[in-house]
Amino acid sequence: PTPLRRLFDYLPPESLPKEQYQNLKTGIRILVPLGNREVVAILISTSEKSGLAKNKLKAALAILDDAPILPTAIIKLLRWSADYYHHPLGESWLSVLPTLLRKGEALSGRQHSYLRLSTWGKGLADDSLSRAKKQQLLIRVLRQHQALALREILEDGHSRAVIKALKDKKLIEEFQLEAPPQVDTPTQAAEKPLSLNEEQKQATDKIIASIKHFSVLLLEGVTGSGKTEVYLQAIAAVLEQGKQALVLVPEIGLTPQTVKRFKNRFHCPIVALHSGLNDRERLDSWLQSSRDQAGIIIGTRSAIFVPMAKPGIIIIDEEHDISFKQQKGFRYSARDLAVMRGQYENIPVVLGSATPSIETLHNAQYRRYQHLKLTQRAGNAQPPDFRLIDIRHQELTEGLSPELIEAIKETIEAQQQVLIFLNRRGFAPTLICHDCGWIAQCHHCELKMTVHRSPAHLHCHHCDHQQALPQRCPQCKSQPLAELGQGTERCELILQQLFPDTPLFRIDRDTTQRKNAMQNMVDAINRGGSALLVGTQMLAKGHHFPDVTLVAIIDSDAGLFGADFRAPERMGQLLIQVAGRAGRAEKPGKVYIQTHFPEHPLITTLISRGYHPFAQDLLAERKQLGLPPCGFMALVRSEHQQPQASEIFLREVRAAAENLNLPIRMLGPLPSPLAKKAGRFRFQLLFVSTQRQQLQQLLKQLIPQLESLRSARKVRWSVDIDPQDMY
Ligand code: ADP
Ligand code: ZN
Ligand code: ZN
Repeated sequence: PTPLRRLFDYLPPESLPKEQYQNLKTGIRILVPLGNREVVAILISTSEKSGLAKNKLKAALAILDDAPILPTAIIKLLRWSADYYHHPLGESWLSVLPTLLRKGEALSGRQHSYLRLSTWGKGLADDSLSRAKKQQLLIRVLRQHQALALREILEDGHSRAVIKALKDKKLIEEFQLEAPPQVDTPTQAAEKPLSLNEEQKQATDKIIASIKHFSVLLLEGVTGSGKTEVYLQAIAAVLEQGKQALVLVPEIGLTPQTVKRFKNRFHCPIVALHSGLNDRERLDSWLQSSRDQAGIIIGTRSAIFVPMAKPGIIIIDEEHDISFKQQKGFRYSARDLAVMRGQYENIPVVLGSATPSIETLHNAQYRRYQHLKLTQRAGNAQPPDFRLIDIRHQELTEGLSPELIEAIKETIEAQQQVLIFLNRRGFAPTLICHDCGWIAQCHHCELKMTVHRSPAHLHCHHCDHQQALPQRCPQCKSQPLAELGQGTERCELILQQLFPDTPLFRIDRDTTQRKNAMQNMVDAINRGGSALLVGTQMLAKGHHFPDVTLVAIIDSDAGLFGADFRAPERMGQLLIQVAGRAGRAEKPGKVYIQTHFPEHPLITTLISRGYHPFAQDLLAERKQLGLPPCGFMALVRSEHQQPQASEIFLREVRAAAENLNLPIRMLGPLPSPLAKKAGRFRFQLLFVSTQRQQLQQLLKQLIPQLESLRSARKVRWSVDIDPQDMY
């Protein structure tokens, strides 16, 4: 597990007989000396010779496994991804293994204590121990069984003292055994599948028809259209064939409800892999999956590397969600790797979303993916009504317009609930005029410019054009200009003042940290009655609030018109997802969107024609500008306490890259939109190419050179392939 992009040669352990050398297979763990430490390493390959002289080679200390700890498909996947993401192979391997395996723990499940009769105990006459009735009773119980778990024996009321007495007499003995797989018996009878509507049926049939081979299917279904029901019925077909299903969900979508929904439907063991597990639980789940002791594996991003004994299908729910992209260390995209894994395992991959990413839609359009559509809400639920509120020139109260305050009041008085969405995700800030809606845009490429504070200026992160911060609006001469997205910090406070008698629930990372906090809040909300729900991105998915009839989006502009080229896509997705939380059959929902741009074609397309045409417009724009998915990006980031150090390193990177003479566009070094974090100054250098191959070729030659740069040793640097977040 070293950050070095190279492999290390070792001799076999001295204790290992020669005839066993052939058992040294790719993917077993070995213990090796590294510097003055002993580390767990992975055997990548064996060879008859080495570049090092024999007396320079150290011997491995021990062989930890009899067989590879990962199946061939996962080994291939790791090799491919370390290569593609230009991450050191050692770190890649070790970062996908459960912690205990990384530490050298044996590849076995949790050990439990069992009791059984000893040979003496078995030979004991039935009426002996008549003066110790309790001991006699336990002997009789054990006589009826091969062995019993210590825990069960204690639960049945036998005391530890009795057990100890019998152990001391050598009549019973304790031993350790790996627990049998725990089979979840559903609390209620397994729920029946729903009868599918026509679109659901077609989608399910297409997925089932693909079970025997690799293919990628995009399931695009509006919120509430019953995608989950399609997954469930496709999974049922996979289970019937004796295979396993892997379901990946976004970080914050993995709620107890998601797992419960699966458990209610299927009798088979289901394991969940998420960050809340301790090391032992994680290894147990991992083992159950790799040994075919779990039918369904539900997990977040990292579960894409979990081995399956009998892989049958991979489902990525909410495939557009950015939590599928790892943002530090090994920066892989679990969604993209799912497609690779599907190929290696020869199984179908289903990407589901109400708001597919532009990348995925692009692939569907080029017929790389089958495109399945659910256009109707399941059951009788109605789609919500959208309304744009023009907030130019309006007197706002902490971001709220009079019209919105009035609508909130009416909803509360009708004993219904309001969901108020605040956009706190730090989109790269740009400038806006509250009076006329003018926005800071680059003259050269029509993209939004990013505000930088030190030194203060506007910077185009697409073409590198820079200009001074205007003091007043260039269009209407009013002043001052605000940063988009400002002014909603105190929104919650003002809501409490305006509606003191209405319960207010704030749903964000802070209020939902504690175990069960989210669930308790959801339960309280769903007991009904008027309520205000204030929240951020967390509100956008996973939960359904049937009593919410008004959704308010306070600052849509910050997202739709932020400087990051993905900002409109993200905001469109969020808006549709948040809107999808509102209303059900009896109570249709309304969605109010505050904006400075009521006539902007993107926003009008989104609300009058829906996400798909909106996404088409975005795709056309990306094509024109050569941005992903019609261009390929790699971002080199660098940070250091001194801004110069960061920048100098990236300048040297750029010079080295230019020397390679490949047709790659380079942008930077620029200060990152988030220019300073935790006392470190952050810079970035962007590579863009229309050819993925060329970009890969550049990095392949460039990165080894960077490792030997002296300026590289000073800074903290990283390479991000297909960056999702331009920070
Ligand atoms: P999505 O995942 O597409 O947002 P869900 O799968 O959560 O939608 O389904 C939304 C609601 O519709 C759920 O309450 C579900 O039980 C219901 N539903 C799904 N399919 C059907 C169907 N065929 N008939 C009736 N109700 C359905
Ligand atoms: Zn203006
Ligand atoms: Zn520009």
